[in-house]
Amino acid sequence: MKENLYGYTLEGLQNLVLSLGYKKYNGEQILRWLYQSQVTDIDQMSNLSLELREKLKEKYEIFIPKIEKKQISSDGTIKYLLRLSDGNLVETVLMRYIYGNAVCVSSQVGCNMGCSFCASGLLKKIRDLTANEMTSEVMVVQHDLNKTNERVSHVVIMGIGEPFDNYDNVMQFIYCINEAKGLAIGARHISVSTSGLVPKIRQISNEKLQINLAISLHAPNDLIRNKIMKVNQAYNMQELKDALVEYCNKTNRRLTFEYILLKGINDSSENALELIQYLNGLCCYVNLIPYNAVNESPYQRSDEKNINIFYNLLKKYKINVTIRREFGKDIEAACGQLRAKSEGNKI
Ligand code: SAH
Ligand code: SF4
Repeated sequence: MKENLYGYTLEGLQNLVLSLGYKKYNGEQILRWLYQSQVTDIDQMSNLSLELREKLKEKYEIFIPKIEKKQISSDGTIKYLLRLSDGNLVETVLMRYIYGNAVCVSSQVGCNMGCSFCASGLLKKIRDLTANEMTSEVMVVQHDLNKTNERVSHVVIMGIGEPFDNYDNVMQFIYCINEAKGLAIGARHISVSTSGLVPKIRQISNEKLQINLAISLHAPNDLIRNKIMKVNQAYNMQELKDALVEYCNKTNRRLTFEYILLKGINDSSENALELIQYLNGLCCYVNLIPYNAVNESPYQRSDEKNINIFYNLLKKYKINVTIRREFGKDIEAACGQLRAKSEGNKI
């Protein structure tokens, strides 16, 4: 099977052409063709010699996953169910903000973290996605946006999968989409969300590219977090906090905490006060997420009243907090929902 040309950094493409016996500058030409001209065929790379194009075609191709299903929400959110080259399915979502177009990328087929509220965790991880597959998720959306002369401006790695359980591929993907002569998505426009794999939080503090980091916290103490997020049994909240303090000191970046409000589980005033205490000393921002009910899960969304009490308490203690705007409510745009449904129905 041929390898996909997507997903390489400039240096990666330079090494690739050098290994084929060509010049380093051919690497930059290929990068520009792929991400600036956005060609879909190696033969369209007209400033490469015919011989180089033939050599490339022997081993490589430009593979764009097939759109198995595309759902357009009334708020403009578009959810793509994509078929990868080996037949597996992943979800990619386009969210439209005033400031630009954000693509939410999946990083694995399924997820092994097993959070009890999440549809992705219901289907065990089948495999990691490669950097070229994550890049091709972005390119599917970019090709669609070309029709209206729009550009993908932001990327969030918050789809199916735990990105830090696939760290090296995710980092290669990030460096690839950041390439100045490629898609040129700025580091400040790239976010990665993790359930809290402490060693990888320490590792990302030392990367030369400083992207935004979001932590799926969802609980104010170990008792609750152990129950809803298995990862907490491996890295408890104090260990997580220690790593985050170090991250903040090293990078000077503000963290985002995600907190799904689950009725009767983590949404009381006491829970809010505990959370405030936990956040003490961290430079952060809290995103309160209304829960999207998943069929098989026992949880319910918190009442509007409780959400507001929780929000106001955080505000009162001067914590930067927002209630997440919901995207694609009518098209099941929450993490893993579409895939879980399709796999269930076996399309
Ligand atoms: N595995 C990573 C990234 C993907 S999940 C992580 O957990 O951070 C992206 C976000 O969606 C996480 O904050 C996750 O907790 C949240 N999420 C999962 N299921 C959800 C649901 N049913 N309703 C609302 N948010 C959900
Ligand atoms: Fe995996 Fe994130 Fe879902 Fe947890 S919330 S099961 S880590 S995708």
